[in-house]
Amino acid sequence: MLPLSQVDPLTQKKLDRASAEIAIPPLLGASVAELTAWVQQQGQPAYRGKQLHEWIYQKGVRSLADISVFSKQWRAEVAEIPIGRSNLHYRSVAPDGTVKYLLQLADGQIVESVGIPAFGGKEHPKSRLTVCVSTQVGCPMACDFCATGKGGYKRNLGRHEIVDQVLTVQEDFQQRVSNVVFMGMGEPLLNVDNVLEAIRSLNQDVGIGQRSLTVSTVGIRNRIRQLAQARMQITLAVSLHAPNQTLREQLIPSAHSYPIEDLLAECREYVEMTGRRVTFEYILLAGVNDLPKHALELAQHLRGFQSHVNLIPYNPIQEADYKRPNRDRIASFVNVLKQQQIAVSVRYSRGLEADAACGQLRAGVGKE
Ligand code: SAH
Repeated sequence: MLPLSQVDPLTQKKLDRASAEIAIPPLLGASVAELTAWVQQQGQPAYRGKQLHEWIYQKGVRSLADISVFSKQWRAEVAEIPIGRSNLHYRSVAPDGTVKYLLQLADGQIVESVGIPAFGGKEHPKSRLTVCVSTQVGCPMACDFCATGKGGYKRNLGRHEIVDQVLTVQEDFQQRVSNVVFMGMGEPLLNVDNVLEAIRSLNQDVGIGQRSLTVSTVGIRNRIRQLAQARMQITLAVSLHAPNQTLREQLIPSAHSYPIEDLLAECREYVEMTGRRVTFEYILLAGVNDLPKHALELAQHLRGFQSHVNLIPYNPIQEADYKRPNRDRIASFVNVLKQQQIAVSVRYSRGLEADAACGQLRAGVGKE
C-alpha cells in the first residue's frame, strides 16, 4: 500500500490550486491536478489527466507517444512534448549492493544518484531502498572536504530532474523506494522551490511517506524557516561539522556570513514550528574537529535541544588532505556525547567501492 498523504486538506487545496496554474512541460513532477489542467488545455477530457499520471509515475513511460490509451492522433500531436526523464549514462555496483548512477539531463549535464538497499535487521524488518538524490549540477558551497564542492557549480535541477532520479533507481531495483535523502550533489536550500515541489511529488505522486524524506543542508539563512513553513513532516539534517564559528568557517566558507548561533536559533525555530527533531551531521576529521574538547563544546550547544547527532567519519577524497579518525577516536567522541546525554549515532558510508559515498560523488566517469 502507498502511504497516504500527510499534508492537511487546506494546504493540499492550496498546493493543488497553485500547481494547477503552472501546468507546463516537462510533465514529470506535476500533480494529478496539474496534469488534468494540462490535458484540458490540450482539448482533452479531464480523465486523461489521471491516466497520464498513472503512466508517468507507475508505468514509468518515457514518451507521450507510447501511452497506448491515448488516441493515435493526439499521441502524434504531443509526441515531442518532454515528460522529463533522463538517460542512464553510467551505472556501477559496489560489493555491498550500493549502486551509483550517472544520469544525463536534457542539456547534456550529468548528475549522480545512489541507490542504497538495506535488508531486514531488527530495526527495520522490512527491506528498505534509500535513494540519495542530487539537487544541483555541482555545488557553489565549496566545503573543504567535499568532492562536489571542488568541481564548481553549474545550475539548479528542475523538480522533474529530482523526481526522475528516484524513479530511475526504483525501476532499476524493481523495488519501491522507501526513503529519499537529499544528500547528493548540491545544496538543496539554494534550490528550495524546486526541492519543495519535488518533495510534494515524491510524497503524493510516487507515494513515499514524508517522514521518509530527509533534506540535508549546510544552512542558508531564512531557508530553514521556509522549509518549516511548508508544514511537511520531512526530516531536516543540518551539516554542522564544527562546534564553534572559527572552526566551522575553516571547513565551510559559507558559514562566514551565517554565524553558528544564528543557524542554531533557526534550527530551534524549526523544531518549535514542526515538532520534529533536527539531525546534526558532524563529519569527523582526524585532529581537526574530533577531539573530546570538540565533543564537549558540541554538547554544550545541543543540551536540551530536540536533536540527534549523526557522526560521519570522513571519506577521503583526492583533493583534500584530511584523514579519517581511527575507531578509538570515534568511540571516545561518541562517549563524551553520550555522557552529556546527547543522542548520537555513527554513519559508516555505504558504497565506498562504487565511489558513491558522501563527498565522493564527483569521482570517476563524468568528471569534468
Ligand atoms: N549540501 C548538503 C547536502 C550534500 S552533502 C549538505 O551540506 O548537507 C551530504 C553530507 O555529506 C553532508 O553532511 C556533507 O557534509 C557530507 N560530506 C561531504 N563530503 C564528505 C566526505 N568527504 N566525507 C564524509 N562526509 C562528507
